[in-house]
Formats: sequence, structure tokens, C-alpha cells
Amino acid sequence: MNDDVKPCGECSLCCKLMGVDLGGTYKKAGDWCRHCNPGQGCAVHETRWDGCRHFQCAWTTSPSMPAATRPDKCKVVIARHTYSEGDNVVIAYVEPTKPFAYRDPIILGALRKLAKDGFHVGIRIGHQTLYVLEDGSVVEDQHGTA
Ligand code: SF4
Ligand code: SF4
Repeated sequence: MNDDVKPCGECSLCCKLMGVDLGGTYKKAGDWCRHCNPGQGCAVHETRWDGCRHFQCAWTTSPSMPAATRPDKCKVVIARHTYSEGDNVVIAYVEPTKPFAYRDPIILGALRKLAKDGFHVGIRIGHQTLYVLEDGSVVEDQHGTA
């Protein structure tokens, strides 16, 4: 592991909030992965699939994000997605039982900075998706209308 990457510790929130390809079967976003022991980690850690092995949320790679914003504490997993070359997509997956968690000033500030820097930034709360625009506004569709 890269020395600059923070360890996940007791966090496993990406194993709940994100959809994951488990080598042929698909774990839906919002359901705990059947291999996850929340608070303890992945029961198949040594043989987990590539998608899991290579995933690092933004908290692990961002020195400026403090311990209090570890995903299991702040209830938001921020992930960069590259669907094709050149994509700059960031999704913040919010724990649906804490739907306003993304409004934490550090989290929303980070999302606004990413939007200002040219990323397409979405906020996923269960089935709802919000977007963060370049001017920092948070809207229900990408054209800026609520
Ligand atoms: S959400 Fe981030 S910190 Fe939490 S387990 Fe996943 S990669 Fe690690
Ligand atoms: S296989 Fe392990 S790392 Fe992958 S989603 Fe399930 S619990 Fe998480």
C-alpha cells in the first residue's frame, strides 16, 4: 500500500453504499455485501475481487480530509469513477438514513472544489441523485433546475 494512503480502519461503508461486481454476481448499492463484517472488514480479504482490491475512496487518498470525515463517521463515501478515458466523474454516496450528511462543511466544501476544478460531481442518496455545479450550487438535475 502507498504510504500516503490512509488505512480504512473499522470503516467498511463502501461495501454497503456502492454497487460492486463480485466476479459475476452484482451486489446492489445500498445493501451490505454478504462478505462484509461491518466494523471488522471483508471476510474474503485475501481473495477479494479486483474492483474491491483497487478501490480507494477519496478520504483514503486526501491528506486534507481529517479523521472525523472517515466515511463510517461522516456517512459519505466519495469515489472517483472512470467509465472511459478522460472521464472526471466523482460520486458522493450518502448513507440513506443520514440523507443530509453531505452538507457537512468539509464534505460539501470538497465536492464544491472538485466541481470548480472541472469534475462532474454527483451526490447519490438512495435512488435520488443531486449534482454539484461549478458555481457551488447543489441541484436536482445537471442543468441547474430544481
Ligand atoms: S469507504 Fe473508504 S475508508 Fe471506508 S472502507 Fe471503503 S475505501 Fe476504506
Ligand atoms: S468482497 Fe469484501 S471488499 Fe468487496 S464489497 Fe464485499 S466485503 Fe467489501
